[in-house]
Amino acid sequence: MEPGARVVVDPSLSCGECEWCRLGEQPLCDSYRILGEHTQGGFAEYVVVPARNLYPVPDGYPMEQAAAAPLAFLTAWRGLMTRGRLAAGESVLVTGASGGVATAAVQIAKHVGARVYAVTTSANLDRVRDLGADVVYDREQFDYAKEIWKDTGKRGVDLIFDSVGEATWRQNVRAAARLGRIVVYGATTGPKLETDARVLFWKQLDVMGTTMSNRREFEDVMALVFAGRLKPVLDVVLPLEEARAAHERLEAGGVFGKVVLAADLAPDVRNGRSRR
Ligand SMILES: [Zn+2]
Repeated sequence: MEPGARVVVDPSLSCGECEWCRLGEQPLCDSYRILGEHTQGGFAEYVVVPARNLYPVPDGYPMEQAAAAPLAFLTAWRGLMTRGRLAAGESVLVTGASGGVATAAVQIAKHVGARVYAVTTSANLDRVRDLGADVVYDREQFDYAKEIWKDTGKRGVDLIFDSVGEATWRQNVRAAARLGRIVVYGATTGPKLETDARVLFWKQLDVMGTTMSNRREFEDVMALVFAGRLKPVLDVVLPLEEARAAHERLEAGGVFGKVVLAADLAPDVRNGRSRR
């Protein structure tokens, strides 16, 4: 990578030497850390990362959009594709569909040819539909498990992708088809997922966790993003000095997609002509 190159950062920090790193499974590294979660992050004009974490941004691709992509898309990609083994023609349920990872998941599922069911709030129904979801449920109006049961002819969905946690768990288990897979990538409303074991074995469900992605998955999904096949959803772009307002916006709720903080980039860097 040349000095002055436009780059995004793979936020996975791993040792490169342990059993898991040697397998190419960075998020399982013995000393795994995430840039910005376990270290100082990107709320800054300058950030130091290992050179191997860099990935080039093509000329012409907006930096604000590039910045919004990695964390959300790599998490959704590993969760749906590697862990969830999603295939064309299958059905997927994405809960909490206004979040960064979930908006990425809806697009990825559509991209691979799945039928997408999504749950969100009334304010975001149209926006989730615009991302490609086939059926969108208003969680304030419906018990979505019941609706999915009806809408799939009492079959349920093949894959469920969830970070809501406790509040949606029972509905998720009910919405799963026989041999269904439930992939958990967060626990926003609480971590205790109480499951009736009889449903688990009778439906023969797989329940699995996922976090972040390895380098190969990161590169696979970023290539699709930069080819314009998957589009990071930006709620708003604010200047770095307004970091406080950005946090207040997140805490107030109602955000759709990513809140991006932009340092004062020179116009040529922002718009994609490399600066030497
Ligand atoms: Zn390691």
